[in-house]
Amino acid sequence: MSKIMVVDDAQFMRVRLTKLLTGHGYDVSEAENGEQAVKTYRAARPDAVLMDITMPEKDGLEALAEIRSFDPGARVIMLTALGQESMVIQAIKSGAKDYVVKPFDPDRVMIALQKVLG
Ligand SMILES: [Mg+2]
Repeated sequence: MSKIMVVDDAQFMRVRLTKLLTGHGYDVSEAENGEQAVKTYRAARPDAVLMDITMPEKDGLEALAEIRSFDPGARVIMLTALGQESMVIQAIKSGAKDYVVKPFDPDRVMIALQKVLG
């Protein structure tokens, strides 16, 4: 079963996503900021990543760049809020495969994941 890493500084968001993904049979690891995301990625080598943009320590854009330089094949989907369009464009240019706007629609998350994993 595919391994997914969930990265968000909001605990409730990690809980909701982890519940959704484990419910679909995915093996989930979590990180609560960009710094931890880079470390956890190296250790867990997930098949795909769902990553928040706005986080302390290291934001999602920095973490995306580091993960992609370590693993150019990394499949990262950004979790964004309304009003973050310019950061979304930057993320896509840096190699993010897709983005999901929060509050997220569970079906949209699953479709995005299946697409990047397919
Ligand atoms: Mg955040």
